[in-house]
Amino acid sequence: MSENKSRLAIIIPCFNEELVVKTTVETLLGVLDNIISKGKITEDSYIYLIDDGSKDKTWEIIENLRATYGDRIKGTKFIRNYGNQKALIAGLTGVREIGCDCVVSIDADLQQDENAIETFVDEFHKGADIVSGIRNDRKTDSFFKKYTALCFYKLMNILGVKIPPNHSDFRLVSRRGLEILGQYSEEGLFLRGFFHELGLKTAYVHFNVKPRALGCSKYNFFSLTSLALNGITAFSIVPLRIIAALGFLTVLGSFALAFEVLVEKYLLHTTPSGWATLVILLAFFGGLQIFCLGIIGEYLGQIFNEVKGRPRYIKDIELK
Ligand code: UDP
Ligand code: MG
Repeated sequence: MSENKSRLAIIIPCFNEELVVKTTVETLLGVLDNIISKGKITEDSYIYLIDDGSKDKTWEIIENLRATYGDRIKGTKFIRNYGNQKALIAGLTGVREIGCDCVVSIDADLQQDENAIETFVDEFHKGADIVSGIRNDRKTDSFFKKYTALCFYKLMNILGVKIPPNHSDFRLVSRRGLEILGQYSEEGLFLRGFFHELGLKTAYVHFNVKPRALGCSKYNFFSLTSLALNGITAFSIVPLRIIAALGFLTVLGSFALAFEVLVEKYLLHTTPSGWATLVILLAFFGGLQIFCLGIIGEYLGQIFNEVKGRPRYIKDIELK
């Protein structure tokens, strides 16, 4: 096993987590020590905390932890709150620069089962580049969150982004995955979609979700909606296509309507004069306008894809 030893980094996004961050770090140091003692990871494995602009004592506690545990604790502090996705990206970038063979991201409240980290590392040693944590259930989520999350994953699947439901940001990424992430410069990267779409060898590990021990969820209705919208618009131009399709259907509908109105006018003589022309023109031009918007949408979609500047492809193997 010793030739298979890897340097593991654990990244933790923290936003106003003064109540839990110390216990979390100490628990995770215990987890690291345990995996180190089994010879699976190197002794310079470390924890990297990202303070996402906390207003409480989170950063002070992180500095104290650094003083106590030395460079096993590393981290960075944002100037303001940028949200969990950006904190995670900063963590992934940070540990790539510092150096590691693989990195695991976990929430500061340790709702995810930290003992699964060892299984993640085992899967990594078996050759997986991504190990994705899948929640066994959503018992700890509110009714609202449970169903909106389910709808979100359903919708993403319909829109062509095939993320498994109950996916989470509790995952291991290999050095290789980190290098590829470095080639993506887009601003609003949605990590769950990104890692899933990459096509790297992925393993899935199921874990149990615990209730949050202390403090409260940092997500509210608006931040969840914004995360979901970002996920959809960063990965799919299908909503733009839907506009064109709607326009096209409306135009078709207007032809059917025209037929009906003409029958009423010329065979049944039941319509007042001028009404038929008005109705037909209204329906036809309404549809035409939506359809044209859809065409503009197609070009917008192209621009959107170009602007993101994603690498055209990632080579798996090359023989030279
Ligand atoms: N978080 C963050 N920035 C934010 C919101 C949340 O870094 O703007 C962190 C938070 O500190 C925690 C993780 O993201 O480590 C997940 O947040 P939380 O536990 O509140 O979400 P929930 O478990 O309710 O989905
Ligand atoms: Mg939580």
